[in-house]
Amino acid sequence: MKAVQYREVGAAPEVVTVPDPEPGPGQVLLQVTAAGVCHSDIAVMSLPAEAIGFPLPLTLGHEGAGTVAALGSGVVGVTVGDAVAVYGPWGCGVCIKCAEGKENYCLRAKELKIFPPGLGAPGAMAQYMIVDDARHLVPLGGLDPVANVPLTDAGLTPYHAIKHSLPKLVPGSTAVVIGSGGLGHVAIQLLRKMTAARVIALDVSEDKLNLARQVGAHEAVLSDDQAPQRIRALTDGRGAEVVLDFVGAPPTTSIAGAAAAIEADITVVGLGGGAVSVGFGTLPYETAVTSPYWGTRAELIEVLEIARAGGVEVHTETYTIDEAPLAYERLHQGKVNGRAVILPNS
Ligand code: NAD
Ligand code: ZN
Ligand code: ZN
Repeated sequence: MKAVQYREVGAAPEVVTVPDPEPGPGQVLLQVTAAGVCHSDIAVMSLPAEAIGFPLPLTLGHEGAGTVAALGSGVVGVTVGDAVAVYGPWGCGVCIKCAEGKENYCLRAKELKIFPPGLGAPGAMAQYMIVDDARHLVPLGGLDPVANVPLTDAGLTPYHAIKHSLPKLVPGSTAVVIGSGGLGHVAIQLLRKMTAARVIALDVSEDKLNLARQVGAHEAVLSDDQAPQRIRALTDGRGAEVVLDFVGAPPTTSIAGAAAAIEADITVVGLGGGAVSVGFGTLPYETAVTSPYWGTRAELIEVLEIARAGGVEVHTETYTIDEAPLAYERLHQGKVNGRAVILPNS
């Protein structure tokens, strides 16, 4: 089968032919219908060799959807032909965090060398993929896999962050979304669907600001050193009760701190290497800073429910598997508006 692999540190991803995988005991084989392209893949492909925690080559793709093609021995709960989305942050299934459905925070994944598909285990950017356990499959329930596959990460991650801050997103509050890209443009829609907050989107690109407006941002503001003042002007000086930073680089974490209201939540989702420092006088009183990773299995089911009710529509552009390296190039250049999705079997 064809697969998109990151093969050598510092090199671009390549389309290669690899043996068709076969499901072992307890595993599920999926014929992949769609795989999303996330900026985190570029972050991983920018790491020096010593910082990559898994062996190469790596088949990319941590946003996956497919049709169940075969079952390993002992698998129950899914049937050949089922259309499913893959819950990506795989855990041990047994520790207290996994028991709570928070496999994204599994206490034993590292020790047991359990990796998410596309981030250590072979991922969804291939014609077939192995899913380690049926519990990591969520029925699509009629949702189009191509339009909705990004919800497994670009939907789930912002959903988790927003849910954390729901008590602060009351009528009259403001939420700032920094970076209106793959995750950000979904975050804007989820904020509009789940809360009464006013949404201010920031980006450095006019195309992305237009997308932000199109998907429901009340205001779209250029992300520069004037942004905090603009946010204060739009909020009668109060600032934003919730700031979601989908870039996480020094310029944006600095905006996040400067735009926060008293008792705000600042959530740094982006892997840009920035930080928000907390200490008396550095931030408005009682501002909380957090940096979450992905979301829970239950939250993925909830996000798909929102999509089924028409509450979120991912802006996608599609590519064949042979065009996957081009999709990464375009994402790296900031040219993907919304989410790029690879169709490995068409
Ligand atoms: P993306 O490239 O689709 O979107 C990033 C957006 O940020 C783009 O629209 C870009 O124009 C904009 N941007 C760049 N610099 C900016 C600046 N200074 N100010 C404002 N906007 C700016 O990327 P994505 O796939 O949406 O991922 C966003 C970030 O989230 C990445 O760092 C990714 O690695 C990270 N991520 C984290 C998690 C997690 O669990 N914590 C999960 C998925 C992705
Ligand atoms: Zn991702
Ligand atoms: Zn666990």
